[in-house]
Amino acid sequence: MGLLDQISFRRAVTEPPQSIEINDKNEFLVAWPGVLSVIPALRLRDACPCASCIEEGTGRKILDTATIPADIRALEVKPVGSYAVQISWSDGHGSGIYSWETLRRISGVDEQEKG
Ligand SMILES: [Zn+2]
Repeated sequence: MGLLDQISFRRAVTEPPQSIEINDKNEFLVAWPGVLSVIPALRLRDACPCASCIEEGTGRKILDTATIPADIRALEVKPVGSYAVQISWSDGHGSGIYSWETLRRISGVDEQEKG
């Protein structure tokens, strides 16, 4: 088995965060194993992965960032099974389910590690 085979068969499993908190600057503090990411609420809302914000199939973004209130904040962060959280926002939107993979991608911690 060559190296490429090993890579393609390797499963990308995102470990769940150890904690998710919201600070007084309205940022999400997500503690991943070994790394803490800070995600502004606006960025997280803007990256909502639900079907009314992202077109299914194409992955094209439908949500217009300009329509998000600058003072957007999370009203509720609810666990979904052991793989995601559902966030209800102050603009009335609450259908976005953020899997750990999505949350990790938004947090950008892996991009920082790559340099
Ligand atoms: Zn959405």
